Order: sequence, then C-alpha cells, then structure tokens
Amino acid sequence: MKDKIKNVVIAGGGTAGWMAAAAFAKLIGKNLNITLVESDEISTVGVGEATIPPIKTFHKLLGINEQEIMRATNATFKLGIEFENWGLQNSKYIHSFGATGKECWAGEFHHFWLHGLRKGIKADFGDYCYELQAAKANKFALLNNTPINYAYHLDATLYAKYLRKFSENLGVTRLEGKIQQVNKDSKTGNISSLTLASGQVVEGDFFIDCTGFRGLLIEQALHTGFDHWSHWLPCDSAVAVQTKTVSAPKPYTRAIAHNSGWQWQIPLQNRVGNGLVFCSKYCSDEEAIATLKQNIEGEMITEPRVIKFNTGRRRKGWNKNCVALGLSSGFIEPLESTSIHLIMSGVIRLLRLFPFEGICQSTIDEYNSKLDSELNAVRDFIVLHYKTTEREDTDFWLHCKTMEIPPSLQHKIKLFKETGRVFLDDGDIFRVDSWTQVLIGQGIIPEQYHTIAEVMNDKELEHFMHSMKNSIANAVEKLPSHAEFLDKYCKA
Ligand code: FAD
Repeated sequence: MKDKIKNVVIAGGGTAGWMAAAAFAKLIGKNLNITLVESDEISTVGVGEATIPPIKTFHKLLGINEQEIMRATNATFKLGIEFENWGLQNSKYIHSFGATGKECWAGEFHHFWLHGLRKGIKADFGDYCYELQAAKANKFALLNNTPINYAYHLDATLYAKYLRKFSENLGVTRLEGKIQQVNKDSKTGNISSLTLASGQVVEGDFFIDCTGFRGLLIEQALHTGFDHWSHWLPCDSAVAVQTKTVSAPKPYTRAIAHNSGWQWQIPLQNRVGNGLVFCSKYCSDEEAIATLKQNIEGEMITEPRVIKFNTGRRRKGWNKNCVALGLSSGFIEPLESTSIHLIMSGVIRLLRLFPFEGICQSTIDEYNSKLDSELNAVRDFIVLHYKTTEREDTDFWLHCKTMEIPPSLQHKIKLFKETGRVFLDDGDIFRVDSWTQVLIGQGIIPEQYHTIAEVMNDKELEHFMHSMKNSIANAVEKLPSHAEFLDKYCKA
C-alpha cells in the first residue's frame, strides 16, 4: 500500500515557486494542503522578464485576466527577438512568433521562398510573416479577424507578487523563514520535512524545489547530480541593470551580440531591463559591466549586478518525492527566454502525473523522460544560434563556430543545409517556423528544396508571393503603434 499524497510543500518563492503554487491551488488544490516556504533574507534571481507565447495558455488555464496581469506587471507585448550581429557583424534578423507564409502537406513555405529566390523574386523571408513585420514597424493590436501570436515582457518581481496574492486567495499557506535543514526518512531516503531557522518543522508528503540555483532539496539533500553543458553553451555569467525608458517600448526583445557574449534589452511600460550574458573565459566582470554601460540607452536606475550560472541540467527533474522546478532544475541560457516556459510545462506535466495515490517509479520515469526530450530540444535550438555564427573576429565567436555540438543538432543543421528540410524532435517547443527563421536568419541558404514548390508556373508563383507579401504589409499598415495599443489596453 503506497502512502497517499496530501501535503505539498513548495520550497522557494521566486517565479518558479509562485507559478507552481498558483497552478496547484487553482487546478488541483481542493484535494491538497499547499504550503510555500520562502525567505525575505534570500533574494530571488530578479531577472527573467521575457516570455514565449504558451504563457498565455497558462494564464487562461488559471483564469487570469490578461489586461489585469499586464497592468500589474508593467508588461508589454513581445512578438519575437531581434538578433543583431549574430550571423555576421552588422547583420540583423528577427525570430518572431509568427508563421511565415503558407505551408502545404509536403513542405513549409520556405521551400516556395527558396524556389522564388531561384526565379529572381528577391524578398526577405521575413516579408511573409505578419508578426515579424508588425515587430519591425513597432506596431501591435489584438484584432478578431487577424490573429497575432505573441508573448509578454514583464517585471519578474511583480509577476511573483501577483501570483502570490492569487495563490494565497486560493488557500496556499505562505511561511516566511529560512530553510536550514532538509530532513530525510532514513528508510526510504524521501524528504520528510524542512527545518526553518526559527526551529519550525514543516512536514510534507511531496516537495517541490524552487530554491533557485542552489537546489537545496534536489541537490544538497538528494544529491541528484548535474550534467554540465558548458562545452555547448559557453556563457556562464551575466550582468543585469535596469534603465529609464527613453523611447517607445518595442514589441520585441533585442539580443545584441558583443565580443564575448550578447546583450539583452527588454522594454517594460515603466523601464527597460538590460543585461549582458558573457563567457568568463573571454571576458572579466569589469569588462562586461563596462560593455553593458557603454551600450545601454537610458539612465541607470539600479546598480549593475553580476550573476554567475552553470549551463546544464539536474540529472533528474523528479527524484524520490521531490520535483525541481525553475533554476533548481537547471539552466540552459536566457537567449530564447525559455526558462519561465519550462517552469510552466514542468508544472503542467506534474499536475497531469500527480501521484495522489502514492508515488510509482513509472510516474517518475515518465516525467523525467518527457523532461529529457524537452530540455534536449531547447538546448539544441539555443546552441544553434551560437554554432551557426559566421563570426571569427573574437576568440569567443571563433570558439562557438568551431565547437562540437550535440549530434542531434549536427544532423538538423546538415539536413537543412543539404535539403531544406526541418523535422522536429519529440518535445520540441519551437515550431518549424522558428527553426527556419533562425537558420535562414543566421545566413544558411539550403542547397535544395522540395520539388512541390515547383507546382506553380512562374507567373502563378510570382502572384502567390507578391499577394502574400502585400496583404501582410497592408495589414501591418493598419495597426496602431505598440505604445498606443498598450496605453489603451493595459496602461499600468
Ligand atoms: P529564484 O528566483 O532564485 O528564487 C529562489 C527562491 O528560493 C527565493 O524565493 C528564495 O527566497 C528561496 N530560497 C532559496 N533558499 C532558501 C532557503 N534556504 N530558505 C527559504 N527560501 C529559500 N527566464 C525567462 O523565461 N526569460 C528570460 O528572459 C530570462 N532571463 C534570464 C536572465 C538571466 C541572466 C538568468 C540567470 C535567468 C534568466 N531567466 C529567464 C530564468 C529566470 O530568471 C528563472 O527561470 C526564474 O526567475 C525562476 O527562478 P526561480 O524561481 O527558480 O529561482
């Protein structure tokens, strides 16, 4: 007879802790007692402000009103990421959340675009994507007849604060206190309780580790192990600073490559989040701070803060009676803003597999195997940006260009270069559209494309391509500016 699970303890109250608390309380909370322990003495990582579109599904599931949460978190809309100087110095492309062109059964639109190129129809791949064109024009609107795929830039601290109130209203108990000891059952090795600095003991049947990089439960107590990915993802440091707004917020994140890393710029309604992600082997903290300071636009409103991290993953996301979510489960790289998404998908997976009647090894294995696929796919997509650089101007970029990459990614790049085909792996959270936008954006033009693209004669092809491009341009023309729409829709 297995022990039923009734008492869930969440350790840590950053984005991960409160996302988990909110989802548990709203979706399966009636059957559980949920306690979250966090310490005001230990700050959250304080970054993590760009998201990807599935966050909207998470909010819908929880019944969170979009305008309300956007107002509460000073949020802006995000249509994608602009990559500057990644393929080559002075090159630029946007990886947007939109679909490019129209696909058919045999292949996606890029086959038609490639055929068009051969036939002399010279237009950018991005000209056929509504979201990408809207981003370039700094425009945005939510219209019934023209769906738009988007995510948010939001203030991470305010987001956790919003979810805390949401969770507490649904009955989650928050305990303030520093976890001093994680206690284990001597027979099973399961976690049985947490001892706080005050001496209070918090017992539980199931624990969710959201304590950030330190992984207090999953690593320090359960010694789960960590797989390092620094040979594929060389950046291990970041410096972050907030600045005053000096121009209308762009509806996209900027990711600007520098000599030994890249800079992010995330516009909120009231300020801009900036940071430089860099590799300490090629750049000191002081150099990174200086580079960031030289490349920010508004006056600084916080002091530059250095954050150190290891890229990689905890060997098991679920170990014994503990699941790690957020930074305690590992960290890939902030480049494609995937961490908050991985928290969300971890929470949803856990809710679907939740062991009310007791933990079975098969449940743990299922969780971990789905997590493996998801992490590997995200890792490959992010490594792609570094590996496919053409830059050789600094030791860092030369290293990225020539480094070994996972065989799964090696195959994907080769397949695209040789044939123009992209097939997704299990667990990939990015669509073929994302892969092609980045591959082409980085400067890879395939040698072949699917012959289906030749079904149209030259005139038909020209008409097809022109009318699509024009209808996108016309639709974008009619949109209000992003700033105007924000003001009307969700002014904070
Ligand atoms: P933390 O924010 O570190 O929270 C840990 C919590 O645990 C805190 O509440 C703390 O008080 C508590 N705690 C720790 N120890 C104890 C203890 N002993 N007792 C009691 N409580 C304790 N993600 C994105 O999706 N988009 C981005 O744009 C993005 N950018 C990033 C940029 C950088 C440079 C970095 C490093 C990360 C970025 N991330 C991004 C990741 C994102 O910041 C995290 O996934 C997210 O903030 C979740 O963090 P967390 O809740 O796991 O950890």
